[in-house]
Amino acid sequence: MNNYNVLKEIILNNNSFILTTHVNPDADAIGSELALYLVLKQLNRKVHVINHSATPYNLEFLDEENVIQKFNFELHEKIFNETDVLIFVDLNRVNRVVKLEDCVKNFKGIKICIDHHQDPENFFDYIFGGTEYSATGEIIYDFIKETSIVNIDYKIAYQLYAAIMTDTGSFRYERTTPKLHKIVAELLETGVNPTEVYEKIYNQFNFERIKLLGKALNSIELDSSKKIAYMTITLQDQLFYNTTEDDIDGFVSYCLSIKGVLIGILFYEMNDGVKISFRSKGDINVNKLAEEFGGGGHINASGSRLYNVQLNEIKDKVIAAAQNYIKE
Ligand code: 5GP
Ligand code: MN
Repeated sequence: MNNYNVLKEIILNNNSFILTTHVNPDADAIGSELALYLVLKQLNRKVHVINHSATPYNLEFLDEENVIQKFNFELHEKIFNETDVLIFVDLNRVNRVVKLEDCVKNFKGIKICIDHHQDPENFFDYIFGGTEYSATGEIIYDFIKETSIVNIDYKIAYQLYAAIMTDTGSFRYERTTPKLHKIVAELLETGVNPTEVYEKIYNQFNFERIKLLGKALNSIELDSSKKIAYMTITLQDQLFYNTTEDDIDGFVSYCLSIKGVLIGILFYEMNDGVKISFRSKGDINVNKLAEEFGGGGHINASGSRLYNVQLNEIKDKVIAAAQNYIKE
């Protein structure tokens, strides 16, 4: 059980905070960071939100006040040395902060993790959340409600709604519980407009993304069992369609929309390696599969980034490994 009063005490007893999240952040990462930022600012705390990645273009509207900074060692090392509390939001492995890793490892203050992924790394002084939560935004909501640290106003509710809506696949994934819908009802009561949030996140994509999606859909193959579908996006495709990694969010889910398919995989070639996304149905644990390749995540959604590997070589290995997860 979470004792959110411990987190409240840490916040009340310290002055300066750094919030950070994972590489290639999604709306749960950004919305949770910004909601927590708003809580801390209401309490007049000094807060820096520092991420490895720039905010994806379709999520920039969440950061209306330009609070999020892209990490720069020269600029931020001093801030890391002077800050009391570091909070990881929506991640539980240190390597997922990429360029911030050295500063994080050298951090002398209190290290907190607020997250809902599987198997947190043994690094943090305190961990809040758990895999029962649909989104990190839901954890932040529980924390605020249980401790009454502030009131959930429209601005905080807006961030939490964006976080929860996206991480539940617009309220359809497994952890979409009655409790979650009650939370969402309360967020909407502050005035959050669900149509507006959905439009901003999912209906403002670059034309290039949709063209790349066409190429990616065309690339889908099935393994011999026809239970694994995999999609491949090469560097050449990205150059041709002039896209970035922000443009591929959500593509892998099309693999699971094929009848009989239980595992979907996306291979995304990067300049220096390959990003792999795993999705699964039911109790097929792709978190374990991702772990075999140095990654992690959730039971039905996980990922990994491998550096200095060749696309075709790793594809064969990953598909062979995935076949072990398909039950007869
Ligand atoms: P996506 O495939 O959408 O990038 O990520 C799916 C899930 O897997 C997310 O919950 C994400 O946090 C997790 N994930 C993606 N890549 C990695 C990785 O390299 N390491 C770990 N530990 N988790 C990852
Ligand atoms: Mn999340």
